[in-house]
Amino acid sequence: MLLPLSVEPEDRSWQDYANCLGVDPDLFFPERGASTREAKEVCRGCVVREDCLECALVNGEKFGIWGGMSERERRRLRRDRARARTASTA
Ligand code: SF4
Repeated sequence: MLLPLSVEPEDRSWQDYANCLGVDPDLFFPERGASTREAKEVCRGCVVREDCLECALVNGEKFGIWGGMSERERRRLRRDRARARTASTA
């Protein structure tokens, strides 16, 4: 990851490295039924994709594409993780 020399990594948050900086936010909040392909394409090359996804999961983001995943995909992931947690404590 390339950083400007005058800025230490701890001074930057993951959002500063987002591939979607400067991209039309509407792309990430498509109308119901509209394509998410373009947004996911931007996320595919994003170095902070995991941070973004975890942030959305932790904050219960209900709308938009985060970390390359749609609401439905994040719901599924949350369900799968919850199941895995339950199975590991049983
Ligand atoms: S994963 Fe996608 S939405 Fe998240 S910061 Fe990267 S480009 Fe933006």
